[in-house]
Amino acid sequence: MIKTADVVIIGGGISGCSIAYNLAKKGVKNVVVLEKKYLASGATGRCGAGVRQQWGTEMNCRLAMKSIKFFENAKEELEYDRDIEFKQGGYLIVASTEKEDKQFKKNVELQKSLGIPVEYLSPKEAKEIVPHLNIEGLISATYCPKDGHLNPFLTTDAYAKAAKRLGVKIYTFTEVVGIKTNAGKVCGVITSKGDEISTRIVVNAAGGYSKQVAKMAGIDLPVYSERHQILVTEPVEPMQKPMVMSFSLNIYCQQTPHGSFIMGRGDPDEPRDLRITSSWKFLDEMSKTVTNLLPPLGKLRIIRQWAGLYNITPDKQPILGPIKELEGFYLAVGFSGHGFMLAPMTGLLIAEQIVGEETTIPIHMLSKDRFERGELVLEPSVV
Ligand SMILES: Cc1cc2nc3c(=O)[nH]c(=O)nc-3n(C[C@H](O)[C@H](O)[C@H](O)COP(=O)(O)OP(=O)(O)OC[C@H]3O[C@@H](n4cnc5c(N)ncnc54)[C@H](O)[C@@H]3O)c2cc1C
Repeated sequence: MIKTADVVIIGGGISGCSIAYNLAKKGVKNVVVLEKKYLASGATGRCGAGVRQQWGTEMNCRLAMKSIKFFENAKEELEYDRDIEFKQGGYLIVASTEKEDKQFKKNVELQKSLGIPVEYLSPKEAKEIVPHLNIEGLISATYCPKDGHLNPFLTTDAYAKAAKRLGVKIYTFTEVVGIKTNAGKVCGVITSKGDEISTRIVVNAAGGYSKQVAKMAGIDLPVYSERHQILVTEPVEPMQKPMVMSFSLNIYCQQTPHGSFIMGRGDPDEPRDLRITSSWKFLDEMSKTVTNLLPPLGKLRIIRQWAGLYNITPDKQPILGPIKELEGFYLAVGFSGHGFMLAPMTGLLIAEQIVGEETTIPIHMLSKDRFERGELVLEPSVV
């Protein structure tokens, strides 16, 4: 294990690997990623891996638009020898309450003004896109054909391999158990293997464990973690191109390239903790919700279920960038269930901040300070 690093990144999920790649691409030497298990073992490998530009805040629309542009060329840019399975089958988001419909009209206006190819649809038009959609009770829908999904393991692997080629060192099964500070500055990390790495810059990209990692540096983050679960069906022939999503019905459901349906929903009663066990309650509620909205799926056998952690902030927006309390400590945390799709921009923006460049998109409003200032960036369109 090396003894000194220019930058130590804690967490080998999509965010940590993207930050490492972007730093190395900018010429930062001696970048280290420390991952307590294997790459993508956290939320990244457990997520729906959906990517959408249909957001209710300008910030998320802009971040997602640029990230999707990256995903479209990721194989070439990262010189990956495999397919990251980026399928742009679109997102069809349905409204079943007047409140939602009103929000959708606002969202579409914002998204169109930014150049996102989105359409406001009647339930009948939505059914033309997904013929097995039950439109009873639906008021409207929005559809963007450029949204889609990827394989999260392969995408992380592509970033990690590209980062390694540029000289980044990645240590898996190496947990950070301590962060050393001196006179208000970061000065090193201690690993579970007993090694100490001196560094002036540490990036907390620890996903569901970001609060615990920040605590090692004496920082209290306004985030919490919460279990979210996913159900997978047996594979069948292609029958659904877009991800179907509803905020009020609290569901998302997509068919993967190999034919399985992957679906998830949040549970308002979920406690805030680090559990990633599977529950019968989820299985029961998920099956009922999906078979009501997409009835033919009721005939499919369930083959798998798993859970992962959402790391959530009070305004459901990530916290990105340095903090004023501790020099050299950067945050890429609190993605609140949509950090996979933002990872290309997360990596670029954090790297730009570290090397002292102007950021591609102004992101001061995503700093941790916003909570102290009371300037929240509330995102209305989340599951
Ligand atoms: C069920 C579910 C569905 C989701 N669906 C989507 C979706 O469709 N689209 C989307 O964009 N996002 C989705 N998300 C959110 C997305 O998964 C996350 O926002 C994203 O993967 C965060 O990536 P990350 O690299 O920041 O964190 P993670 O992938 O959690 O990586 C953090 C890593 O840090 C490691 N770590 C923690 N503590 C330490 C330590 N002390 N030392 C060393 N390593 C440590 C962990 O082992 C982990 O591998 C979903 C999440 C879940 C749970």
